[in-house]
Amino acid sequence: MSRFGHKVSAGAIAATAFLMLSSLFSASMFAVGCLLGSLAPDWLEVAWFSKWFGRQSLVPHRTITHWPWPWIMALAALFFAPVDGPGFWLVAGFLAGGLLHLVLDLATPAGIPLGKPFGKKQSFSLYRTGGPGEIIVSVALWGLPAIILLVRIF
Ligand SMILES: [Zn+2]
Repeated sequence: MSRFGHKVSAGAIAATAFLMLSSLFSASMFAVGCLLGSLAPDWLEVAWFSKWFGRQSLVPHRTITHWPWPWIMALAALFFAPVDGPGFWLVAGFLAGGLLHLVLDLATPAGIPLGKPFGKKQSFSLYRTGGPGEIIVSVALWGLPAIILLVRIF
């Protein structure tokens, strides 16, 4: 998925947090974390673009930073952390945004590694990066906060 698609999708999850969390400050921290985390699997690769060689990175693309298990374990570990303060919601948002990124990348033909971090990548091949399917999925995710909002209004 493109950077734009990841941001739009993370915005839907952040908007959901604003509707679900009672504290505006906690929701804001979650939203900031979510937006940062939504691009984290890519920026953690420390990539740059070369005029002659194209995209280069310290970590090969869609390998260990796109391996879901550390993200899942970190999110699971967060359930045992005390919920007291903005740091919790910032980290929770970051991990949620990162996991959302991986789910959305899993739906592209390139996929992500589910077994070994540098092993074969798995894919659902639901849409192509930058294609109309990506836009549909990103916009469809906004259905979640929209439904919550409609339920609260009516
Ligand atoms: Zn990615």
